[in-house]
Amino acid sequence: MKLTSLPLARTFCMALLLSGSATFAAASEAPYSLPKLPYPVDALVPVISPESLAIHHDETHKGYLNALNRAVENDPKMEGVTLSALLAHASKLDGVVRSSAGGHYNHSFFWTIMAPVGTGGTPSSGLLKRVETDFGSLEKMQSAIEAAGETRKESGWVWLVWTGTKLAVTTTRNEDNPLMDDVEIQGSPIIAIDLWEHAYFLTYQARRADYLHAWWTVANWKEINSRYALASTDPK
Ligand code: MN
Repeated sequence: MKLTSLPLARTFCMALLLSGSATFAAASEAPYSLPKLPYPVDALVPVISPESLAIHHDETHKGYLNALNRAVENDPKMEGVTLSALLAHASKLDGVVRSSAGGHYNHSFFWTIMAPVGTGGTPSSGLLKRVETDFGSLEKMQSAIEAAGETRKESGWVWLVWTGTKLAVTTTRNEDNPLMDDVEIQGSPIIAIDLWEHAYFLTYQARRADYLHAWWTVANWKEINSRYALASTDPK
């Protein structure tokens, strides 16, 4: 792969990566590290079981992380290349690097936008206003995300993104995400929900719709509000 132009993308995307928690920011440069969950492993009950969360974080996420670090170690040209630069040039990456970079970003993001039941706050007035403009109501936005998540039959993710002019719902396959240069809808991630069966099977078996509907109970609106405020061009 050609990496000569990658540093140019650093400044553009670093703001997105650094906008999250300290643990998330720490995971954005090689060698990448596994961010700690920002809550105990049983904190998301009853929506996500402790066993499911532990396996998802300690094994699934770590698996992507290890694969990414192996790829970086084995290719001198990858030294110093940020995660944001990898994602912005995803179309030039081989399949393993693409999926491991995406998997590391997506899961790091996902942990931060969940919180124990009753602690995640509510949508900010700014976000709510934009949601009402683009979807009609918060309930309609949530329904759109759930419907898109149910419609994608294979593994992937459902997203709420800021496209630069509006909020939009999109899905990506496997570990792709809206920061990649060749996906259908690009934008700054505001909400992400993992659609892989490993995210919900232990509690919901194949009932993905039930998982998606219950997910809002553990949505961390404080973090979601922050991501929207940093990404959007709306008046603050
Ligand atoms: Mn996952």
